[in-house]
Amino acid sequence: MTWYNDKDMNQDIVKNIDSVQRRIVKACAASGRNPDEVKLLLATKTVPVARIKVALEAGYTLIAENKIQELKEKFEGLKELLHVNHFIGHLQSNKIKEVLKYDVTCIQSLDRYDLAEKLHHRLLLEGRQMEVFIQVNTSYEESKYGVSPNDVLALVEKVSKLNTIRIKGLMTIGMLSNKAEKVRKCFRLLKEIQQKIISNNFDHVNMHELSMGMSGDMEIAIEEGATMIRIGTAIFGNRPTPDSFYWDENNRV
Ligand SMILES: *Cc1c(COP(=O)(O)O)cnc(C)c1O
Repeated sequence: MTWYNDKDMNQDIVKNIDSVQRRIVKACAASGRNPDEVKLLLATKTVPVARIKVALEAGYTLIAENKIQELKEKFEGLKELLHVNHFIGHLQSNKIKEVLKYDVTCIQSLDRYDLAEKLHHRLLLEGRQMEVFIQVNTSYEESKYGVSPNDVLALVEKVSKLNTIRIKGLMTIGMLSNKAEKVRKCFRLLKEIQQKIISNNFDHVNMHELSMGMSGDMEIAIEEGATMIRIGTAIFGNRPTPDSFYWDENNRV
């Protein structure tokens, strides 16, 4: 094992971001897209404040957590630094009040109407609004969170009538598979759903954002139209907890 001192580790973060940037540029070139159309969001679950700060100070200020507990623990340490916080984890109804205490500006994981309704009531009470993405289960895996592709349109239409909630786009987690075609199918489906929603012209619905693609599949997501990729491992290194801890309904905590 190599022993890193803090300075070396922190230099790694900036180097890793540079290499992710190069991957974005390359994937955009391959699909005739402008790299400015793809935002890089840093998935900071399990990453301590000191390491997140390195990325923020290097100018990468779009970050996201999966768990309220981590939002809360890191809030004080990050609040003096310029950043934009999204929430990308499964949200339980009884945690809505809690998530609104911190500086989250967009919830990317809205996937059911009862959650939207409760969020709306809380926002009304607090006299504020919230941006959301609708999370879609494009892999049709039973255990995954997200609204079923068949139900997205109806959900968007209903949520669009709640005037505290501003829909900005869609989010998905691609199938965790090493078969590129299976992963691509998920991202392509999200793009198709986006187009379908756009053609419905719902009031107050902005469908610009497609949040899809992670460390292992960002190139495919960019080729299929991602406007935001969510990167953790490729920047901060491997995590101590398995992804099922964050994603799997069977691991509800
Ligand atoms: C952890 C996480 C990511 C980042 O995954 P990596 O493979 O580490 O890049 C993206 N999206 C969500 C919802 C996550 O929980």
